[in-house]
Order: sequence, then C-alpha cells, then structure tokens
Amino acid sequence: MNEIKIFCPASVANVSCGFDVLGFCLDQVGDEMIIRKTDKKGIHILKIEGQDLPLETHKNVAGVAALALLEEHEAPCGFEIEIYKKIKAGSGIGSSAASSAGAVFGINELLGRPFTNKELIKFAMKGEELASGSAHADNVSPVLLGGFTLVRSAKQADVIALPSPSELYATVLHPKIELKTSDARAVLKKNILLEKAIEQWGNLAALVSGLYSEDYELIGRSLVDVVIEPHRSALIPGFKNLKEAAIQNGALGSGISGSGPSIFALSKGENTAQIVGKSMSKEFKSLDIDFEIHISKINPKGIHIISSK
Ligand code: ADP
Repeated sequence: MNEIKIFCPASVANVSCGFDVLGFCLDQVGDEMIIRKTDKKGIHILKIEGQDLPLETHKNVAGVAALALLEEHEAPCGFEIEIYKKIKAGSGIGSSAASSAGAVFGINELLGRPFTNKELIKFAMKGEELASGSAHADNVSPVLLGGFTLVRSAKQADVIALPSPSELYATVLHPKIELKTSDARAVLKKNILLEKAIEQWGNLAALVSGLYSEDYELIGRSLVDVVIEPHRSALIPGFKNLKEAAIQNGALGSGISGSGPSIFALSKGENTAQIVGKSMSKEFKSLDIDFEIHISKINPKGIHIISSK
C-alpha cells in the first residue's frame, strides 16, 4: 500500500460533565485526507483545501502529530499529506483533532500498523498541544477509537472506550464564528469549590453508568455541567435559549461542544434529534449569524479508510 484516503470524523468533547475527559465521535461530518509514501524522508504537507491553514510541517497539527510518531518509529520513507477540510478550525467539533488523528492513523496504516489505534493517541495529542497549548486527548480519542471515550489519564494516554447506546443521536449547531480553544480556556477559573466538584463527578460517573446500562433517562439527568459551562457559555451567542429550546423539544440534555462555539444536544432516536435541530435553528436564526446543523448517530467506528492503492 503506497497511498491511502481516509475519513477523519468530527467529534464532541467534554460532553457537559466530562471536561477534558469525555468525548464522542460523529458520523458523516468530517474531513478527508490523502497520505502517500515518498522517497523524500520527512513529512510534507502538499495541499490543504477548504481552509486557510499552514502548510509548514511544524505549524500544522497533522505535521506535528506525524513527526511525533516518526520519532518513535523510524520509517524507511517519507510521507506526503493532502488535507481536505470540511470542519472549520476553532468550531468546537474537533477540527485539529481530525487532522492530528488522521495523520498518525494514515501513516500507521502505510507502515503496516506498528501501533494500535489506542497507542496512536499519544502522538495525536502532540497536534492538540500545538493547536490549543494543552495536550488533551478528549477529541483525538473518540476519533481514533470511535463511540464514546473516557480519558482516565492524559499524561499516561490511558483511555477507555465506552459503549454507545444504539438509539443515541447528537444534534450539533455550529455558529460560523471562530472561538479558539486557547481563548476559551483563558476564561476558566483555576480552582473550583468542593461542592461543585462533588456534583460534577457524581454526574460524570452517572453518565458513564447510563451509557453502559442504556438508561436514556439517567444519561439526560447527568448531562449537567456546574464547573465549566457557567463561565464559557458567556462566549457563545444565544447559548441559554438554544439549550432551553433543545430540552423543551425532547433532547435528553444539551451543552457546549468542546470549547465552543458549537452547541450539542443528545436525544433518544433520530426523529427527536431532527425536531431538536429544527427548534435550535429557529432559535438561532434571530441572531443573524451564519450557522449549520449536523444530526448524527454516535459513530461507533471512528476514523476509517475510504480507499487505498
Ligand atoms: P478545534 O476545536 O476546531 O480543533 P482549536 O482552536 O483547538 O479548534 O484548533 C484550531 C487551531 O489549530 C487553529 O489555530 C488552527 O490554525 C490550528 N491548526 C493547525 N493545523 C490545523 C489543521 N490541520 N486543522 C485544524 N486546525 C489546525
């Protein structure tokens, strides 16, 4: 195999109560990448379509993640990368994670899979570090493993794949404005009250339990964020009304996708997810900001090969 074309899905991180540890993978929404072997050693980003992003290897998350992999596994050749961006950078649905994970997944395949997808997480995290200043794994993990994932320890790249209830659907509203993860991190407080921490870890544990037991009602009750959302929501236009519209129209819960500005809702069944999407669109239209809506099943497969030669 000399060339590979891959689908690099978008993802939702944090998922209300799981700041920096929880994430899930979306279906259909995502970038494509082509990666091919070349005689010229190193990583060469030849082309990026759909977004104005740096081609220099050290400035692009795909290049940085790929170099981290090659540092640990010497390759007999170099690699050329083409990125076809559909996910806007700074959208809060894992644009940088799609490219970081894509680069390491594609190269690993072309090298005959010296690493498992789980082992690739630590390399992809290097790309996230470039994008946001922190090597977080909550987007790259669901991209590489599919479904829902829980990061027990980012430092040790210890990630657990969680089950995704079969009728769980996401609705994501993406306002077409950029909110950089680094800026959205700057509004966060360094310390939290013990009582808030107790509420938060109670909800996180209950949400994980709800995913295992397919208890949709419990999932809904647990989608609460008392630590991050109260501060970050101020950066997101119309957040309170959108969340209310989603819940009133049948969503199990709703919150900020990643560091925003995208907003997600989770629903039981595609039909409800569609109704929730319509209610969120109606609410957001009054703001005069361009936006798009994605309705997606939780993607159990994650990143995958489209074609190879
Ligand atoms: P997102 O949550 O959408 O990933 P971030 O703010 O975390 O947004 O990351 C976007 C930042 O990463 C932008 O500053 C962007 O220029 C930079 N970046 C570098 N390479 C890429 C890439 N291949 N894809 C997306 N963003 C990239």
